[in-house]
Amino acid sequence: MKLYNSLTRTKDEFVTHEPGKVGMYTCGPTVYHFAHIGNLRTYMMEDVLDKYLRYSGYEVKRVMNITDVGHLTSDGDEGEDKMLKGAKREHKTVMEIAKFYTDAFFEDCRKLNIRIPDVVEPATGCIPEFITLVQGLLDKGYAYEAGGNIYFDTSKLKRYYVFNNFDEEDLAVGVREGVEADENKRNKTDFVLWFTKSKFEDQELKWESPWGLGYPGWHIECSGISIKHLGEYLDLHCGGVDNMFPHHTNEIAQSEAYLGHPWCPQWFHVLHLNTDSGKMSKSKGQILTVSVLEEEGYDPLAYRFFCLQSHYRKSLVFSYENLDNAQSAYQKLIARVAALSNEQQPVDEEVFAQLQAKFREALDNDLNTSLAVTALYDVLKADTNDATKRALIADFDQVLGLDLIAKAEALSAPSEDEDAEQIEQMLALRTQAKKEKNWAEADRIRDELKAKGIIIEDTPQGPKWHRA
Ligand code: AMP
Ligand code: ZN
Repeated sequence: MKLYNSLTRTKDEFVTHEPGKVGMYTCGPTVYHFAHIGNLRTYMMEDVLDKYLRYSGYEVKRVMNITDVGHLTSDGDEGEDKMLKGAKREHKTVMEIAKFYTDAFFEDCRKLNIRIPDVVEPATGCIPEFITLVQGLLDKGYAYEAGGNIYFDTSKLKRYYVFNNFDEEDLAVGVREGVEADENKRNKTDFVLWFTKSKFEDQELKWESPWGLGYPGWHIECSGISIKHLGEYLDLHCGGVDNMFPHHTNEIAQSEAYLGHPWCPQWFHVLHLNTDSGKMSKSKGQILTVSVLEEEGYDPLAYRFFCLQSHYRKSLVFSYENLDNAQSAYQKLIARVAALSNEQQPVDEEVFAQLQAKFREALDNDLNTSLAVTALYDVLKADTNDATKRALIADFDQVLGLDLIAKAEALSAPSEDEDAEQIEQMLALRTQAKKEKNWAEADRIRDELKAKGIIIEDTPQGPKWHRA
């Protein structure tokens, strides 16, 4: 499989440290608000990658953090802690906010068929690990104490901007929102590993450390959690493109400085979901969530289908018109699967292999999901029996996660109402048969209903039925 690697800026052959095994880390949500559908685009494409690696036979261990402390309103070290901001907004404690939005996040994942990672770790559960890391960096001379905080010294690195040749201007974007620079920093690019002197004295969550009561910086969380669960060599690190700088740049800086060797060779970044007016973001106050889509009458999996139709390395523009088109195409697709016959026929192994190869070819080429969807349509058009088509669709859907077979079956199965109507009709026929003293027919109808789990009771008001 070839996958674009943000570190080398080329499509590289996917390799792993241990053959057949993948250690995969994905930056998780900061649980101070609902995830918007842009965030979920990133999680969904990471999910497709996770599923495709498993489908290809890899044993994947996927780890995700939950940021419940330390992420400040600027992605640099300035501003208020996002969690505290959320707690104030809702007059709750930080831990109440964290629990509520973590649950909401996984509920969204469930609706979008995003598999829960093998390990989900809240930052507040790993404070001792972060302290060990920070201490290690101090011992090795990569960190310093200033004004009560511990900073990473980026001047100690041969190369800090590993993803790109960022310059001063880019940096100004990374440390945005017009907050004044931190005077404790020796270099502009240095970043906080551990805070004890927060500008916000009412920081709720603090822990004892060798440097005083405080809390970890956001970047150290991902290095700490990854090393804790995936060891010194990580195979694949994922996130949204905005995480590249400063977050992932800083993760690499501190992990490699601590470990003393290269840490993660492959970086997968998903481009943004935008609206007509630019990048979708929570701070802009326009939070488009899965629940909002549902309220507007959309199936969350229609949104998944919408995302699959474009490549993860292209930014995607969201509009209701685009989603309408995706939903209608998705429903037509389900109807076409539902129209396939259920007859037991042998699967044509040769055709199966040929069409599966096209699907794999698409995904092996930098996870080209839109071509993988085309391969799905090719199955429906193929000159083969329906059993082969169904088997292929079920096979592809292990990766695409569109619930096609289940939805098609639900579409073909009579609904409860239709069922009830049919039962009433059969009861009327039985009453008629009894009137005509056709006892054999009346009994036959009773038995037929019984076989379907419907029990008839003859009452003075006429026959009544209930499910067994
Ligand atoms: P956050 O909860 O803000 O830490 O973001 C969670 C994930 O969503 C990160 O991987 C971000 O890079 C990603 N992300 C943020 N905004 C967008 C967007 N508009 N489209 C796609 N991904 C995004
Ligand atoms: Zn991270």
